[in-house]
Amino acid sequence: MRLRNIAGSREAIGESDFVIHEPENQKGNWQKIFGNNNPIHIEIGMGKGRFLMDMAKIHPSVNYVGIEKYSSVLLRALQKMEREEKPLPNVRFVRMDAETIEAVFGVEEVDRIYLNFSDPWPKDRHAKRRLPSREFLARYDKILKKDGWLEFKTDNEALFRFAVEELKPAGWKALGISYDLHHDDKMGQDNVMTEYEERFSSLGNPIYKYVIARDSR
Ligand code: SAM
Repeated sequence: MRLRNIAGSREAIGESDFVIHEPENQKGNWQKIFGNNNPIHIEIGMGKGRFLMDMAKIHPSVNYVGIEKYSSVLLRALQKMEREEKPLPNVRFVRMDAETIEAVFGVEEVDRIYLNFSDPWPKDRHAKRRLPSREFLARYDKILKKDGWLEFKTDNEALFRFAVEELKPAGWKALGISYDLHHDDKMGQDNVMTEYEERFSSLGNPIYKYVIARDSR
């Protein structure tokens, strides 16, 4: 996935109207970017953008922001957008490391957060880099509406167990948990597959999912 050196990816991204450049300047203004008052849903670590764009087609009255760390991967999402029959007006992309997400979205500006097949960072000393870690949950706590929620899917059992254990110390609670999403009638209803999800479920891996909200909710 991380083809960091695709020639010209930074230039292509720089020219794209779908990419929000200097996103820190948009903090608190995201609805203005979309020109409506629709809710803002973000996917952190969107990869090539399949999930985000499929969701945007299904839910035209939701604004979707896809966040990706690497230009070369974001370029793939832009190329996918170009292949669409019509560009999706409710999608924008940001190239950034989610570590600074609070600099880009205002307090309670986001209605929902998706994490899909996040990098596992298996070494203990890298636990803070995992997107469902308590450190990241504290960042999400700032930008997510009080009644908002976060959805996380993975096929990585160790990462999922870690994510579940992080909830209590971070002050979050599970609204729903599935240890086999594709055989779960309730949680699997209306599931939209991600690129990684299709790849790993086709190998027979079960897909884990939780939906979480703050404890105080
Ligand atoms: N969500 C997609 C899917 O399910 O098919 C892609 C999953 S891929 C394993 C994880 C993606 O998250 C990669 O494209 C990676 O570059 C991105 N990523 C990892 N850490 C990130 C971070 N801190 N901020 C933004 N993107 C990140």
